[in-house]
Amino acid sequence: MALLDRAIVRLLPGVPKPVIQRLSSRYIAGPSLDDALRVVRKLNAKRKLATIDVLGEDVTTPDDARALAGQYHDVLARVDEEGLDSNVSVKLTGFGLELDYDLCRDNLESVVADAAARDNFVRIDMEDSSTTDRTLQLYRELHAEGLDNLGVVLQAYLRRTLSDLPGLDNVRLCKGIYVESPEIAFREYEAVRANYVRCLEALVEQGSYAAIATHDEHLIREGLRIVRAAALDRERYEFQMLLGVRPDRADELVADGHRVRVYVPYGSHWYEYSVRRLQENPKMAGYIASDLVGRVLGRSS
Ligand SMILES: Cc1cc2nc3c(=O)[nH]c(=O)nc-3n(C[C@H](O)[C@H](O)[C@H](O)COP(=O)(O)OP(=O)(O)OC[C@H]3O[C@@H](n4cnc5c(N)ncnc54)[C@H](O)[C@@H]3O)c2cc1C
Repeated sequence: MALLDRAIVRLLPGVPKPVIQRLSSRYIAGPSLDDALRVVRKLNAKRKLATIDVLGEDVTTPDDARALAGQYHDVLARVDEEGLDSNVSVKLTGFGLELDYDLCRDNLESVVADAAARDNFVRIDMEDSSTTDRTLQLYRELHAEGLDNLGVVLQAYLRRTLSDLPGLDNVRLCKGIYVESPEIAFREYEAVRANYVRCLEALVEQGSYAAIATHDEHLIREGLRIVRAAALDRERYEFQMLLGVRPDRADELVADGHRVRVYVPYGSHWYEYSVRRLQENPKMAGYIASDLVGRVLGRSS
């Protein structure tokens, strides 16, 4: 993204919430579980798989964390009842990681056990680098207990990622979305891409299940090259995209015989997720600029 565009995009937190809500509506299923299930039904009808994320990032008490885990039990039950093809994605801070490790572990374990009983799967999203060690530790602890319907996420922008791979048997690989310092993270676009390819090759080589999460055409092509070169069975990998981003490309991948899973967030805590998505949309600078100009000229927004 050009410098001026980046500067404009940094203004996003100052944009009124209703405008953010309007601009980001394509990225979020809606406020309720029914909204998420409606979207998943439509995705499944187009032969796309889903992973449901309950938006709930401002957890401040143990009760909040337990309540969020409770919402995931509801999601798993409804997905099961309705025979939908969707797993769930969870954020450990939502389960209380910053409050108490054991509370978080209990919440995660109960959701993973519920998913196992329903023959479903839980993906642990990766958050900022202050959580990486504890996230990987929790994944490994539950895995060692025999809960293998569980996967984790690694971020190609982190310099450590290649060395985190050994022993992880189900990984979603993404570029990474949080702001990290250059000491621990690659910052240049091409360096992140190159590390993504290195990590994906290593994942496939060690026999892990690979979830290739990107909308970057270069990386989608590299992903296709790598799975083809390894003659991977289609059950051993999948592509993943976010709701509202490049749906046509996802359709093409499905038509070519690949599995594609779409990340479907829903809930009332939509603001932080929306800002992150809008900051990544290359067209956002233009939208914000025209919205600002519109307001300066007195048009209502
Ligand atoms: C399924 C999934 C799960 C993820 N989970 C995590 C996670 O757990 N932790 C984490 O840190 N990050 C996560 N991410 C986010 C990821 O790290 C990136 O921030 C995000 O995917 C953008 O990177 P990209 O590979 O698509 O490349 P980019 O270079 O950002 O985008 C490539 C192209 O995709 C299109 N595009 C990308 N984003 C948008 C958008 N918002 N609106 C419109 N067009 C867009 C544009 O055409 C852009 O040029 C996840 C991403 C996906 C797809």
